[in-house]
Amino acid sequence: MSLNVLFSARPALWPVYEPLLREGLCHAGQEVTIDTDLPPETVDYVVYAPNGGLMDFTPFSRLKAVLSLWAGVEKIASNSSLTVPLARMVDHGLTQGMTEWVVGHVLRYHLGLDRHILTQDGVWAPDPPPLATQRKVCVLGLGALGQAVAEALAALNFNVTGWSRTPKAIDGVTCLSGPAGLRTALSQAEIVVLLLPDTAATENTLNTQTLDLLPAGAKVINPGRGSLVDDDALLLALNSGRVGHATLDVFRVEPLPLDHPYWAHPKVTVTPHIASETRPETAAQVVCENIRRCEAGQPLLHVVDRTLGY
Ligand code: NDP
Repeated sequence: MSLNVLFSARPALWPVYEPLLREGLCHAGQEVTIDTDLPPETVDYVVYAPNGGLMDFTPFSRLKAVLSLWAGVEKIASNSSLTVPLARMVDHGLTQGMTEWVVGHVLRYHLGLDRHILTQDGVWAPDPPPLATQRKVCVLGLGALGQAVAEALAALNFNVTGWSRTPKAIDGVTCLSGPAGLRTALSQAEIVVLLLPDTAATENTLNTQTLDLLPAGAKVINPGRGSLVDDDALLLALNSGRVGHATLDVFRVEPLPLDHPYWAHPKVTVTPHIASETRPETAAQVVCENIRRCEAGQPLLHVVDRTLGY
């Protein structure tokens, strides 16, 4: 039977994804209609991103699954009109991009790159950085992205601790979980990377109490979500020196408002949500594989647990 797939994402992405999805689904032997506008009652699958504007899934009476192009699903996970499985995006390209971005910013802090790049002051005072083995990095969140980041940092010989909701075992990474694990992880973290999802349980993971656990001058890198950080507490910690510098890619309000104190803060680097993005070539393969699986009666990959929100 022919399948109908609705593409509901940023319109500019349609010309990029259309040939990739068409090719991937034909390759899987599916007869398929893919479009940005189909009668809801005829749609089998929705390829979804929040900026496509679709909010009400009620009229989609024969829908089998929603396949998110985004890794973060906080904007759809609690949508009560959605009653079919929701799969999030786990994409090699996205993972590689995040790994490169985080490793780059960790190396910036580890090597103290700003000092000589931004300040040529005529002072000849050799003060070489320590080796990565002596640098303690903590990765909060050990999912598709956090685990890849932790492994890449461990491969560079950083002293890596990771923290997740459930216990994990990752070669070269000290894995912790639970509230006590978070306290242990933060109390030794010279550089903290946040790669948690935006859920009720992760809101303000970095707050006044947890920031206070950090060694003085610790660096914070947040490519996860803005809600993970209590902004007022972080600003206080930056001003007191508890946190030495922060690189923030994600914010509670995006674009970050022009009058937000982060923009002008001398100890904050703002990047405009560019840590990584879904790469159409690899992401389309993930979407097609999930449609193939669903049609074959096999379990979907990367299904969101709607009770946990990720
Ligand atoms: P995953 O769902 O694969 O991993 C989430 C991780 O967070 C898991 O290890 C999970 O633990 C852990 N976690 C969840 N809740 C808690 C909790 N309450 N306490 C402790 N640990 C918790 O997500 P991804 O790795 O794919 O992505 C992470 C986030 O990165 C996304 O949700 C998104 O917000 C962000 N992102 C940002 C991008 C950017 O450009 N800035 C691009 C893409 C994603 P467990 O393993 O035990 O389940």
